[in-house]
Amino acid sequence: MENLTAVVPSNLCPSQLQRMEKNQKNKGFNNPTREGYLHKYLSWAGINTPYQFEFYDAPKADWLMRPHGNLVKFNCGIAAKAGESFYILVMIHEFIHLCQQNMGHKSDVMYLKDAFGEFAMRQIDTEADLETFIFFKENYGYDFPKFYTILGEGQSVFGSGKARSHKYERNLSTLLSIYSFEKTNIRRVIMTDLKTLPLDNTLKLFIVGRFHRYDPIYVEPDIQQKILYLLQGKISDPVYFAYEASFIGDKIFHKVFGATLVTKK
Ligand SMILES: [Zn+2]
Repeated sequence: MENLTAVVPSNLCPSQLQRMEKNQKNKGFNNPTREGYLHKYLSWAGINTPYQFEFYDAPKADWLMRPHGNLVKFNCGIAAKAGESFYILVMIHEFIHLCQQNMGHKSDVMYLKDAFGEFAMRQIDTEADLETFIFFKENYGYDFPKFYTILGEGQSVFGSGKARSHKYERNLSTLLSIYSFEKTNIRRVIMTDLKTLPLDNTLKLFIVGRFHRYDPIYVEPDIQQKILYLLQGKISDPVYFAYEASFIGDKIFHKVFGATLVTKK
């Protein structure tokens, strides 16, 4: 936003200034650092489409990305509150929806849900999270704790709100999929179902990999507590958030795959 202040004349009254700022926010601006991450993703993924990028600072608007042909507009309004590192992860996640999954428009998500249901939607989202992690791991040396510390920093924006089981399941799926990749370098989207957890202590997993696999696993009450505490956005310290995420990932990973499978490709 540094180029915004440069064009604002100093002799305007506050209301004129506010109006002018509002108009400026409706105009896209460039951000070479953010664009650098997007171009890096394209070259890493081997995508040659000549995309162009514009950023809009609209914190109250409910959109994150809008493609218009090859021009892709991003709303970076959450960056000020959630932190730039967190925003970069969100931006890459959104861009993966467009350039890899062919679902850059809100309407695409709606049609996908109509055709294949809520499960397909969550699977697409979890896969975009996993791909985001792999991109940052392979290009910027991120590991699970670093990635989850940044997610923890964004909790102030995304961690609160009403309890919704689908949101919790999606977030737990992301955690387990990323943890599993960290340990094995194998891409697996690990879908979760939390419905029976309070009834019979069973967490149901549907693992989408080379072979799909169904795993109902027993989860001890103390680990259940940790899972719920984390998913409810009650941990505000990002480092502690990452520590607890890692603990949960480790416990469940070993229940599913066992110690012997850790190094198997
Ligand atoms: Zn998404």
